[in-house]
Amino acid sequence: MNLVLMGLPGAGKGTQAERIVEKYGIPHISTGDMFRAAMKNETALGLKAKSFMDQGALVPDDVTIGIVRERLSQEDCQNGFLLDGFPRTVAQAEALENMLSELGKKIDYVLNISVDRSILKDRLTGRRICKDCGATYHLIFNPPAQEGVCDRCGGELYQRADDNEETVENRLEVNIKQTQPLLDFYEDKGYLRTFDGQKEISEVFEDIDGLLKGLRA
Ligand SMILES: [Zn+2]
Repeated sequence: MNLVLMGLPGAGKGTQAERIVEKYGIPHISTGDMFRAAMKNETALGLKAKSFMDQGALVPDDVTIGIVRERLSQEDCQNGFLLDGFPRTVAQAEALENMLSELGKKIDYVLNISVDRSILKDRLTGRRICKDCGATYHLIFNPPAQEGVCDRCGGELYQRADDNEETVENRLEVNIKQTQPLLDFYEDKGYLRTFDGQKEISEVFEDIDGLLKGLRA
């Protein structure tokens, strides 16, 4: 069960990843975790990646791909994996294809969780934080009893600058531009399966699970 998970920020990727991993016992391989582990273990590639990150530079593709290769070669990936956050570009996707074929593997599905942009915007701009105690709320998912007021301590709620509409719009724009060629690439390969991420979390999982069950049958 070799899977790639895709979806824009706010699409609910993290939640679905947790459920997939829990049900099917495959490792969730996020780029962030993979880099942190390589740096912590001071592997040659981890140290290389760190030297770029310390300078505030982008880690070059060959280093990133090398780290992915090391991770996918590990024992716990032999029955499958869920890649999340990699690949980000068509060049990386092509490198992944080559790497997997060298390892005698292939991708089974690319799971794409799709949510309308306006809904993503509402989800991503909805977070509110208490000025006094730091409690977090969400206008849609976890609203305070009284608008603008912390349930716990009565403090005033504010929105972080990262969560404002303009920043969120930009972030979505950049992500959409970056992901579209990748979705096209996987569509052409026949791996892409798109799920309606506007349904309830458990319904989205049922849809994904319906597909994955077929792989294990
Ligand atoms: Zn508070």
